[in-house]
Amino acid sequence: MPRARPERDRRRRRAAPAPGPLGEFEIIERYFRLATAQTEVGGGDDAAIVRTSPGTELHVCVDTLVAGRHFPPQCPAAAVGHRALAVNLSDLAAMAARPRWATLALTLPQAEPHWLADFAHGFAALAREHGVDLIGGDTTAGPLTVTVTALGEAPRGTRLTRDGAQPGDTVYVSGPLGDAGAGLALIQRQGGATSPAEQHLVDRFLWPRPRLDLACVLREHGHAVIDISDGLVADAGHLAAASGVGLVLDLERLPVSAALVDCRLRESHLELALGAGDDYELCVCAPPAAKPVLTYHGLVPIGEAVAGSGVVFRRDGRPVDPPVSAGYRHF
Ligand code: ADP
Ligand code: MG
Repeated sequence: MPRARPERDRRRRRAAPAPGPLGEFEIIERYFRLATAQTEVGGGDDAAIVRTSPGTELHVCVDTLVAGRHFPPQCPAAAVGHRALAVNLSDLAAMAARPRWATLALTLPQAEPHWLADFAHGFAALAREHGVDLIGGDTTAGPLTVTVTALGEAPRGTRLTRDGAQPGDTVYVSGPLGDAGAGLALIQRQGGATSPAEQHLVDRFLWPRPRLDLACVLREHGHAVIDISDGLVADAGHLAAASGVGLVLDLERLPVSAALVDCRLRESHLELALGAGDDYELCVCAPPAAKPVLTYHGLVPIGEAVAGSGVVFRRDGRPVDPPVSAGYRHF
């Protein structure tokens, strides 16, 4: 039987931050021993034990967020907690997997109770929304760094990877691009938003929504999917290389929000839509017959896959150089 501990955990979540220094185990107990609903052995032992559903395959991914590199250090703690899980759930969304469990390795410069409470709340709210149990982690002192491992499952034999695109496929994106990059620039350059439109952009950076809602339709109709974390040019390039196809994308078809077009940043909206990361929308390749169902689900066709390699752009049918060349690289 799963070991759900709803009573104990409800009490724990209500506890007000106590004065005085917090020790490592107090931090874990107070903020990160959340209720588990579908786990044999969760946090508190040397390792967690989970039971996968019959007929499924386990999907595992990990992503690290480093303060000052993946997010500005002044970001709200709840958004950091949300984001750390969201970027991993986005990787599962790109595999059309159902998320089930996560671990959290947290490195903190200091144990600040209000920051920790907000961080844990941001993490837990998204975990609850998607039915994810937090089943363990690690808590250490050092520069603020958050590493989440997410585990999900999908029916055996239904895998959806980035290498399945075929010449003739239509290329889609699942939503507007560039908003998060603009939001990040607004936070970095002016400390945040000064209008509702700017707030929309900032929120798109702080509170990414992993596109898990598309899992079923993509599993049925998609040939290849990648999530857009490093910008469309970079991530479409990864998909093209993995699939051994070329992609021809039409600039005028890229979905961009009115807030992005109207915002006054030195980058053009196209530069942000193509080059900035952090949107966590999906780039999808699917056969032409799937167009009605995919557009019904809000996917926007932006081009096609062809025999060849690399990503090239057109505007009104004519080849053009994109205003950006590659995504963010750490090294
Ligand atoms: P160990 O000594 O076996 O590495 P730890 O003392 O690091 O164990 O952690 C104690 C328990 O608390 C473990 O079950 C671990 O998974 C859990 N844990 C530690 N840090 C976190 C965290 N940030 N979030 C969730 N669980 C955590
Ligand atoms: Mg440990």
